[in-house]
Amino acid sequence: MLAALDEATSLKLDTVQVFTKNQQQWACRPLPADGVAAWRARLKDLGWESRTVSHASYLINLASPDDALWAKSIDLMEEEIRRCDLLSIPYLVHHPGAFTTSSREAGLDRIAAAYKELFKRTKTLSVVSCLENTVGSGSNLGREFTELAALRDLITKATGRPERFGVCFDTCHAHAGGYDLSSLDKSRAVMAQLDAELGLSWVKVVHVNDSKAAAGSRRDLHEHIGEGTIGLPGFEGVVGHPALRGVPKILETPKGEGTDGTPLDTANLRRLYSFLGSTPINQPVTGTKSPSRRASTRARTPAPTRARGRATR
Ligand SMILES: [Zn+2]
Repeated sequence: MLAALDEATSLKLDTVQVFTKNQQQWACRPLPADGVAAWRARLKDLGWESRTVSHASYLINLASPDDALWAKSIDLMEEEIRRCDLLSIPYLVHHPGAFTTSSREAGLDRIAAAYKELFKRTKTLSVVSCLENTVGSGSNLGREFTELAALRDLITKATGRPERFGVCFDTCHAHAGGYDLSSLDKSRAVMAQLDAELGLSWVKVVHVNDSKAAAGSRRDLHEHIGEGTIGLPGFEGVVGHPALRGVPKILETPKGEGTDGTPLDTANLRRLYSFLGSTPINQPVTGTKSPSRRASTRARTPAPTRARGRATR
C-alpha cells in the first residue's frame, strides 16, 4: 500500500484507491502495526488524510437472502470498516449486492438491516460507506439512481447516521447501465438526473472509466478515457461538474505504459485535466522503466499485488 502512495505521487495524482486486504478472500491477517504507522505518516505528509478511498472485497453480499452468507458478509464488512479507520481512509466503496433468489425489495431491506448491524458494531467510527452504482447485471442492485436514493433513505432510517453513508458514481457502470454519457449534452443531462433523484452532495467518490461495451449493454468493461463508447466529450459533464470538483476521482482503467513509454494513467489524466483548465501533468514522468514503479503501476488504483481483478473491471 505504501508503494501505491509512491506510485500515485510519481504520477502526480492526488489520491489513491486501495484494497486493504486480498479482495477475493474471506480470511485476512491483521494489518501490521509498523505498516499502519508508516502509511499514516505518509498520508499526513501528503495531506491526503481526507481523500483516500478503499474498495471492499467482491465477496461481500449484504443483499443476500442466505443467512450464512449475509452474516459472513457483515463480519467482513466490519473488518473493512475497521481497517479504513485504522488507516485514516475516509471512504469505503462497496457494491450494493445481489438479491439472487429473493426479490428486489427484500434485497434492499437486507442491505439496510446489514447497515444497522454494522453501524451498531462500529458506533464510534466515522468511515463513510459508499454504495457504488452498478450496471445492474443479473439480480445486482444499485443500477438506478432512484434505487440508490431508496437505499439511502432505508439506511438512514435504520441507522440514524446519514453522515456515514455515501455513493460512489462510476461512469462506466452508469453508461453501460443505461444512462448514456456519450456526449457533453447527454452527460450533463445524466448528472442533472442524478442530482434530482439522489442529490450530488451524496456522491463522495467518482470512478472515472470509459466503457468498452455499449450504453445500456449491462456489461461492465472498463476502457481508457476517450477510447470507449462514452468518448472524451462525455467526461466533461462529470469531471467538470462544479459540484464534484473536490470529490476524489479514481481511474480504474488498465495500467501499464503506452508504446512511447508514457504511463497509461498519465495519458488518461491529461485528457481529463483538459476540462479543468489546467494541466499539472504536462511533463513526461521520468524513471518509468524501474521494476518497482512498473509493478505498482498496475496497482495504483487498488493495493499492490492485488490489482488484477480491477484492471478490467
Ligand atoms: Zn468502479
